[in-house]
Amino acid sequence: MSKHVVLTGDRPTGRLHIGHYIGSLKNRVTLQNSGDYDNFIMIADTQALTDNARNPEKIRQSLMEVALDYLAVGIDPAKSTILVQSAVPALAELTMYYLDLVTVARLNRNPTVKTEIKQKAFGESVPAGFLIYPVSQAADITAFKADTVPVGDDQEPMLEQTREIVRTFNRTYNKDVLVEPEGYFPPKGLGRLPGIDGNAKMSKSLNNGIYLADSADVVQKKIMSMYTDPNHIHVEDPGQVEGNVVFTYLDIFDPDQSAVAELKAQYQHGGLGDVKLKRRLVDVMEAVLTPIRERREAYAKDMGAVEQMLIDGTAKANVVANQTLAEVRAAIGFNYF
Ligand code: ATP
Ligand code: MG
Repeated sequence: MSKHVVLTGDRPTGRLHIGHYIGSLKNRVTLQNSGDYDNFIMIADTQALTDNARNPEKIRQSLMEVALDYLAVGIDPAKSTILVQSAVPALAELTMYYLDLVTVARLNRNPTVKTEIKQKAFGESVPAGFLIYPVSQAADITAFKADTVPVGDDQEPMLEQTREIVRTFNRTYNKDVLVEPEGYFPPKGLGRLPGIDGNAKMSKSLNNGIYLADSADVVQKKIMSMYTDPNHIHVEDPGQVEGNVVFTYLDIFDPDQSAVAELKAQYQHGGLGDVKLKRRLVDVMEAVLTPIRERREAYAKDMGAVEQMLIDGTAKANVVANQTLAEVRAAIGFNYF
């Protein structure tokens, strides 16, 4: 039996944060180490360009940062193929073919894209490439015939769009070339980590993240400035646990959940100050981030080796994607020569 295939990735629009870690990176490492999957992990620079066309320098710089973040969390280039999207041209060609199988009305209905368009304040000037990025994601996933896509909850509409394209393609050209993917999501509630400002999603573009590469000092400052309950002014005041981001993070990252339950009871009753609560979160996050930070620093000493890893991974990815592209062209009937 052939192995399952994983494809997932990140936009190089900045360094990766603890939302990425909990939403996707952790699951990738689990799948990678299970040995049951061929793993493709893509740095989506072409997709990042869809809303950063005039700032390619940011993408260029973030590329190596994201690669370092991968290595830091335990993605192992001996077990996972790490590739750069723009250096796999077959992905762009597949996108062109799939675009003809999708309507503009369908693209306009994508709830994640709708939210992002609002957040980014494009107004009437939404780049066409941005609107269609779910189609390019379908190309990324299907090029590797991935059946498993470890991602956060915001990606569910992209997977649905991909499955529709797969079904439409295979039906239209009467050949089972493409594979329908399934999302591999974190347990309920962990698929969308809120930002330190209380915003529903921690996001590179919203500048509300705790980054994997942040120093201990920066992590402490960010946690101390975190959103809690705006009505919890005095230590003795009863405080709200729901929507209190400090508790959301403790729920996710604190290994001692019975202690967290006690803290919640105390907070709700009154008598537990935000500073004490936040100090605990600093310790909890440091336990998670210290080993990641140390590995990152070690890999950063040899950026030549990191670049070579990207070159090797991208070469391997091109072989696989070109094979799928050949099958796609043949199914359409574009195999003239
Ligand atoms: P950008 O703001 O540039 O879109 P982003 O922070 O949304 O950046 P992406 O590169 O778009 O990050 O997402 C990469 C992966 O990380 C996706 O699988 C996405 O679901 C996941 N992810 C991103 N943010 C979060 C979050 N706050 N909680 C859980 N998963 C997340
Ligand atoms: Mg995003």
